[in-house]
Formats: sequence, C-alpha cells, structure tokens
Amino acid sequence: MDFLIKVHHAEDTTTSDNMLDFWKKHSNKSLPKVCPCCKEPLLDPVGAHVIDRAGIMYITPMRRECNSAHKPEEFSVTKEDLVSLQLHS
Ligand SMILES: [Zn+2]
Repeated sequence: MDFLIKVHHAEDTTTSDNMLDFWKKHSNKSLPKVCPCCKEPLLDPVGAHVIDRAGIMYITPMRRECNSAHKPEEFSVTKEDLVSLQLHS
C-alpha cells in the first residue's frame, strides 16, 4: 500500500519545466498517471514545489493548472512521488 504524505503548496516559488526534469532525474520513476491533488489525468505536468507538515520542501509532478491555482490547499501525495529538494540541492 502506498504511504501518503500530506502537503501544501509552497508560496513564492517560480516554477518551470526544469523542476519536472529535476523530479525525473532524482525519482527514477515514470510520471504518475493522475495528478496528486485533483486525481485527474496528469496532463501538461509541471514539477510543483510542495511542503509537508514538518516544513520539508519537495518536488512532485502536478498539472500545470493545479499548480497555478494553488488548490486545494492541502492534499496527499504518495511518498514515492516526492523528491526532497534538501537532499538533492
Ligand atoms: Zn490536480
């Protein structure tokens, strides 16, 4: 069973497709089929900055639309789909 981590959107981060490349490089995974926040098919994905309740920042793939809207405020992401920025910076 997947281990889920509750996260929220990071404020004031510039997002670009490079963060999706960062995610691909460090996760060694193929992209998830669905967006973690809305559970819709993951179309037009970006690498989104999210923060867990301990304050750790991660990159996770997300629909561009969801990342721009910053909604919902809190959602759960499968642990495997989170790449820590601190470990790889
Ligand atoms: Zn979404």
